[in-house]
Amino acid sequence: MSMDKIKECIFISVQDKYKEEFRSENFEINLSMGKTISKVFIIIEVIMFIISITDIKNLVFKVHNMYYTVMYALMIIVMIVFLILFQKVGDNNCNNTMMMRIIEISFAGFMVLWAAGISIIDQLHYGQTVVYIAGVIFVAIATYLEPIFVLAIFIFVHTIFIVCLFYIQKSDTILFGNFINTSTIIVVSWYISRKQFKNRISQFNNRKIIEQQNKELERLSYTDSLTGSYNRYKFDEVIENTWEDSLVHRKPISMILLDIDYFKQYNDNYGHPAGDECLKQVAKAISQYAKKISAIASRYGGEEFAIVLPNTNKEQVFSFAEEIRKRIEDLAIPHEYSSVSKHITVSLGTYTVVPTDKLAIKKFIYMADKALYKAKGTNRNNVVSL
Ligand code: GH3
Ligand code: MG
Ligand code: MG
Repeated sequence: MSMDKIKECIFISVQDKYKEEFRSENFEINLSMGKTISKVFIIIEVIMFIISITDIKNLVFKVHNMYYTVMYALMIIVMIVFLILFQKVGDNNCNNTMMMRIIEISFAGFMVLWAAGISIIDQLHYGQTVVYIAGVIFVAIATYLEPIFVLAIFIFVHTIFIVCLFYIQKSDTILFGNFINTSTIIVVSWYISRKQFKNRISQFNNRKIIEQQNKELERLSYTDSLTGSYNRYKFDEVIENTWEDSLVHRKPISMILLDIDYFKQYNDNYGHPAGDECLKQVAKAISQYAKKISAIASRYGGEEFAIVLPNTNKEQVFSFAEEIRKRIEDLAIPHEYSSVSKHITVSLGTYTVVPTDKLAIKKFIYMADKALYKAKGTNRNNVVSL
């Protein structure tokens, strides 16, 4: 097996840009799992501890063994410490990768080490390794740890276990059997843990793909395909939300409705493709300025654009509209056939209100349209505020 293949086998992870997020998610899962596990173990071990130090224990187990009592006490203390640690880290929304790793690895490591310890004591009596095997399988399936760390924990603990086994187990047959069984279980468990981690990665990746596709779909549903500005659908959503917000907070809401002057003549004389280009330039200038004043501009229809402005009064919206008018004029797009200028110009109507009625949005838009109509009715290339 080549070095690359070995690396690929034990260093699996998500794309670099998602690493942090993936890490934190796994940590969250491990944290909540860790809390449950430590609570369960505290209860079990307290019961075991009480049994082991009372006479009932002698009735149940016949053999009094201080080693077990010490192990139960150790488990209780360590689980309490971990539980406090989990609680603290959970409350503080830990973002420290190093800290997360230390906590996860030491918790998983302790569980396997403790189970190995019990099985070592078992060698003095029955020669069983069931607790160690259970501990190894348990850690493999109950935690989401990178294969490299699981491997490190297993190798570390198993080495200690095997050394102790050789030292304590006097029967060669049992020694050999235990050695083979536990080593096999270690390998199989690591494989299961790795497979589980791989599934977790593909789950995460699939979710990211869906999230990205949804984002793209959302972006497309809000975008006008010709100009790249927001579209009418976005406008409807924005105005509804802004209206609702203004109603609740009793703040003024303003709107600008803008229409290109003599655009039919532009199309008729320069051609439709040139008209499209002109629309794009105008849309860009409007969107850029809207962004600057933290407002949302949308293509309302044909050659009309709408800008919704939360918390904006009549004077403010007038000066914003005037600025847009100037900016479009400054684009200096030639329009020989306009009756108002040698360049492309726009007329703008604005309307401002402090909403008192949830259902008055239509009237609000109607008033902005009325203002635009007035702007058109005078001499165009101007702003009318109602
Ligand atoms: P006014 O100054 O009164 O607004 O006159 P106008 O000619 O701009 O208004 P009118 O409503 O008569 O014409 C609007 C024109 O806008 C007609 C249509 O061809 C053009 N238009 C609408 N959407 C598009 C588009 O997507 N691309 C192009 N090239 N033209 C468009
Ligand atoms: Mg129009
Ligand atoms: Mg027009």
